[in-house]
Amino acid sequence: MKNRAIWWLRRDLRLADNPALQAACEHEGVIPVYIHAPDEARPWPPGGAQRVWLHVSLAALDEQLRALGSRLVIRQGDSLEVLQGLITESGATAVHWNRLYEPAIIERDKRIKKQLTDAGVAAHSHNAALLCEPWQIQTQSGDPYKVYTPFWRSLGRHLGQQRMPPPLAAPTALPEVWSRIGSATVDDLGLLPTIDWDAGIRRSWTPGEDGAHAMLEQFLDDALDAYDDDRDRPARPGTSRLSPHLHFGEIGPRQVWHRVHEFLDNLSGPAPRKHADSFLSELGWREFGHHLLYHFPDTPTRPLDPRFKHFPWRRSEADLRAWQRGQTGIPMVDAGMRELWATGWMHNRVRMLVASFLTKNLRLPWQAGARWFWDTLVDADLANNTLGWQWVAGCGADAAPFFRIFNPALQGERFDAGGDYVRRWVPEIAA
Ligand code: FAD
Repeated sequence: MKNRAIWWLRRDLRLADNPALQAACEHEGVIPVYIHAPDEARPWPPGGAQRVWLHVSLAALDEQLRALGSRLVIRQGDSLEVLQGLITESGATAVHWNRLYEPAIIERDKRIKKQLTDAGVAAHSHNAALLCEPWQIQTQSGDPYKVYTPFWRSLGRHLGQQRMPPPLAAPTALPEVWSRIGSATVDDLGLLPTIDWDAGIRRSWTPGEDGAHAMLEQFLDDALDAYDDDRDRPARPGTSRLSPHLHFGEIGPRQVWHRVHEFLDNLSGPAPRKHADSFLSELGWREFGHHLLYHFPDTPTRPLDPRFKHFPWRRSEADLRAWQRGQTGIPMVDAGMRELWATGWMHNRVRMLVASFLTKNLRLPWQAGARWFWDTLVDADLANNTLGWQWVAGCGADAAPFFRIFNPALQGERFDAGGDYVRRWVPEIAA
């Protein structure tokens, strides 16, 4: 069979609403390939918590593919060389993938697209990760947005004009991968830590497409109707916890958008529109983060606001370690940092608080906090993490002013009035 296409999987670990897979399926044979090449993402190769997630998610996807009669081909090494090798082995004439927006990956993908095209292979990239490409909207003067509200309005207008099509269905069968194509196993990638620190992460989550949809359904059933009130209360399950699933592309924002609207339309009682709008506008922040990273690619390490370039940050290894370990003596801060270490995730309200404490009370550089989050968050995402840290530090787009300091005690009183969150993660306080 000559008419084969490679589906080059990256962070689009799903079968439904996957445009690259859909395009590959127009060929007679599809070879689903995951290439492990962390060095190509430098200086931001996946952190420890993300690697744990990736291990489980790849195994889940392989199982899904096998149920459709296919399997995941796993390879390691230089992505271009691996693709070229697979093209030679299989006779594939096309490669399809979904776009990512980290600067190093954009450069790599451009190079690969050119090399493949020059060699006569059809190389196509698609959008699976965003509601709107970062280059599709701009201010009236033609610049990228730096303020969220007009960005969100403009995105809304764009989506209205485009009439977002319904999400693509997953294929019901995939032809068997040609048996001579060898594959490494997920274990061969060595993604799991040698010391067993990841048990809490594994207990807390179900990586994979099924886990993502189950999480969304649970959120719609149990929490959407109080989202606006509960989203700031870290002791309650008031938010969707979809962030790692979205980061790994186990579910896409178009799917979430459609499912929320479908859910509202099918409710028999009054629909919680206000809460749904608020939830969907958080997806807007995710889009905004990607817009900013795309247009300002050096912001993961440099402040967007140049006035902060020479800010006199303190240096203190001891203070940084106390913060990382949740041993600052400030209950809400310590609770957040311990939740992060135990589960690979932290509630948004508490992320703001611990970031404010690091940058404004300890006056340590936001980049040090962003690096720690990068290694410990299962949802560590270059666009969202950069946006979050620069926003709190006061040096980013639409940022909280530098003089705005979250008071940890008041935040605790306001958002964890019963002290449940703090007692859960800092048990010595309860004793
Ligand atoms: P929900 O409230 O259910 O929101 C739904 C989705 O919207 C989220 O899954 C997420 O994809 C998106 N979203 C929500 N809030 C934000 C936000 N403020 N910015 C961008 N997208 C948002 N988010 C990450 O995904 N990865 C990160 O690495 C990350 N680092 C952060 C660092 C700091 C210092 C701060 C203050 C925030 C950071 N965030 C990050 C944003 C936010 O905290 C998380 O997206 C959110 O807590 C995820 O929980 P949820 O899925 O339950 O959110």
